[in-house]
Amino acid sequence: DIVTSGDQKPRILLMGLRRSGKSSIQKVVFHKMSPNETLFLESTNKIVKDDINNSSFVQFQIWDFPGQIDFFDSNFDYDMIFSGCGALIFVIDAQDDYMEALNKLNVTVTKAYKINSNIKFEVFIHKVDGLGDDFKMESQRDIHQRATDDLNDSGLDQIHLSFHLTSIYDHSIFEAFSKVVQKLIPQLPALENLLNILNTNSAIEKSFLFDVVSKIYIATDSTPVDMQSYELCCDMIDVVIDVSWIYGIREEQDPAAFDEQSFSLIKLNNGTVLYLREVNKFLALVCILREDNFDHKGIIDYNFLCFQNAIQQVFELRSKNLLTMTNPLGS
Ligand code: GDP
Repeated sequence: DIVTSGDQKPRILLMGLRRSGKSSIQKVVFHKMSPNETLFLESTNKIVKDDINNSSFVQFQIWDFPGQIDFFDSNFDYDMIFSGCGALIFVIDAQDDYMEALNKLNVTVTKAYKINSNIKFEVFIHKVDGLGDDFKMESQRDIHQRATDDLNDSGLDQIHLSFHLTSIYDHSIFEAFSKVVQKLIPQLPALENLLNILNTNSAIEKSFLFDVVSKIYIATDSTPVDMQSYELCCDMIDVVIDVSWIYGIREEQDPAAFDEQSFSLIKLNNGTVLYLREVNKFLALVCILREDNFDHKGIIDYNFLCFQNAIQQVFELRSKNLLTMTNPLGS
């Protein structure tokens, strides 16, 4: 009973050849494993359903398919699996010869698309930490070209593939996952809009709405994201979580002492302030602003309360549409 009908949660499938890095990605992003520890991961031989839903705001599941899976194996009900799937992430090891992976990608995408044409196809060109910048770009160009050519050859040029360069050794894997998850959140435009309004009225330069457990940002304002700011915000979340774990008083059923009251303020020596506020049980807002503008902290806090309220309304309106989110009020 792997997929039950009526289970409305959007499902992210993580697929790719064996040793491409799927289990590592899952462990690093959702289970806080440090990248070096993944060296000792056992290879997966079966479909793994990883339920992170209890601790994460974004509800989805990861299916780890072993690379050698055979689509004609009748043990797996692909109709069920693909029809309930929101996004399919296909991981390609960029440090290895990727011809076989491209083959597999083509077969998988073709099969999945025929069952469910709404699936978002995301290709992670993975382990790029080992590659120089030129080679990285060249691999991406080459993989993109070959993958789309293959699809065109099979007469499926309507299928759109998105490509991401990823590594578990830096923040690129979190950033890529953020992009994937955002495509599955129907409330995204409303969230972006709220963040824009908050920024304008509070002289905030950049703000991210984070799923705290995974450090995936489920929305940001419409100014461009620069990696450095994102990394700073991720690091801040780690600091807050670590301090909460060490010094916080925990309820038995709660994984961390991170709650409605949590906030944190970090002043950098370049005149910038990082301000984190808890939005609800799963989400936190992290803002970057100039120190001078933080003089009006009262206004910022007031605006934050309005923002928090609005966020709850956005999700309440959609509570009938259980596709993506848990009820932020936790009832
Ligand atoms: P799976 O079989 O697809 O689940 O692959 P694993 O997660 O077991 O990973 C296989 C190997 O790749 C492990 O030794 C990982 O440490 C390594 N690996 C995973 N991700 C990365 C990455 O981003 N960069 C590098 N250099 N190695 C990685």
